[in-house]
Amino acid sequence: MKIHEYQAKRLMAERGLAVPEGRVATTPEEAVAAVGPLVEAGGSSVVVVKSQIHAGGRGKGRFVEHPDLAGVNVVTDGVEGGVPSAEAKVRALAETMLGSTLVTVQTGETGTPVRRLYVEQGVAIARELYLSVLLDRATGRNLMMASTEGGTEIEEVADATPEKILRETIDPAVGLADFQARRLALGLGLAGDAAKNGMQFMKALAAFAAEMDTDLVEINPLVVTEDDRVLALDGKMGFDDNALFRHPGVAELRDEAEEDPAEREAGAYGLSFIKLDGSIGCLVNGAGLAMATMDTIKQVGGEPANFLDVGGGATTENVTAAFKIITRDPNVKGIFVNIFGGIMKCDVIAEGVVEAVRQVGLDVPLVVRLEGTNVELGKRIIDASDLDVVSADDMKDGAQKIVEATR
Ligand code: GDP
Ligand code: MN
Repeated sequence: MKIHEYQAKRLMAERGLAVPEGRVATTPEEAVAAVGPLVEAGGSSVVVVKSQIHAGGRGKGRFVEHPDLAGVNVVTDGVEGGVPSAEAKVRALAETMLGSTLVTVQTGETGTPVRRLYVEQGVAIARELYLSVLLDRATGRNLMMASTEGGTEIEEVADATPEKILRETIDPAVGLADFQARRLALGLGLAGDAAKNGMQFMKALAAFAAEMDTDLVEINPLVVTEDDRVLALDGKMGFDDNALFRHPGVAELRDEAEEDPAEREAGAYGLSFIKLDGSIGCLVNGAGLAMATMDTIKQVGGEPANFLDVGGGATTENVTAAFKIITRDPNVKGIFVNIFGGIMKCDVIAEGVVEAVRQVGLDVPLVVRLEGTNVELGKRIIDASDLDVVSADDMKDGAQKIVEATR
């Protein structure tokens, strides 16, 4: 589960991680009301107005309705173009940004509507760094990554200058050790108070990630100010869904409006569904078989459009819902139903598929491979319908047939 920047910063501040002060606003009035106190507390008349959406890349993102306006805007005081104070500028920005749709490299072309803003103290930035903690599945431990290339997408740094990414694996029993923090600080070129503050931040962030069961905490940029303070200017966080029961306060921060509607609907029907970028929709039972199916599709030259596990206890209604979710994705050019009936019965799957097609139609090729409990009954149901189905003998055969059919 992901949360918004302002929520992430509140959690960090509660645990002693330095962040600029800020206030969340859902109306222009709230945004304007935030300016005075922030300016007073910060001693600077610069504030930053930031769109709150789960996707990153907001600084370089642009609004559909206002192609010249970025998702993050720095506001300075004084008279500019006849607009007098920071408050008037914040009002104008908030009126324009709220309700408009922001497109970034992470939102996809359609963008995401901005429903909340974060008005934050401006910071005199000396350097922008990158710092993150992510769960490294290879070691089963948290990994801290740092780079001097803050403000740039880390994927770009990894492609162009991989040597600029520093890594330290965190021993869960020890946390980030002093020597590791020192090594990172040195690698980032931090000295004096900046190094001291940087190391303290790193150690606190490692502890935060462990305590909060995050799978990713990304601070980009982590800034060094002109007076050697180190603070998080941005904060992206993802939490392990399976550990959320340990953090009810975090679970409450869920913003369903930001989540993929297909994934949300799938959740409501008890389906495990993850949308992917490929063109072959998969309807499978069991997480292991679903992964094997995706691997096999890739092996024969295709790309899966989703991971979908209908589970063991699915009913015709669940299967119908699953099939509808798959067909609604415009990227889907073909569907592969791959079922090994154990607890799940092949006839239930067959009825679900037939029912879904009756309701929503089918305009892409469909390959079905059924095996296991009630397989003959399942096949008879499919045959008796006048569905245009290609049947497959096994998983590989099915993957080849669907990839072939979508070429
Ligand atoms: P992202 O583009 O979604 O990652 O949003 P960020 O929160 O990282 O903001 C984008 C950029 O805005 C940052 O990399 C900074 O360069 C800039 N920015 C954010 N806050 C401030 C600030 O207080 N002062 C200044 N000068 N720039 C800021
Ligand atoms: Mn950022």
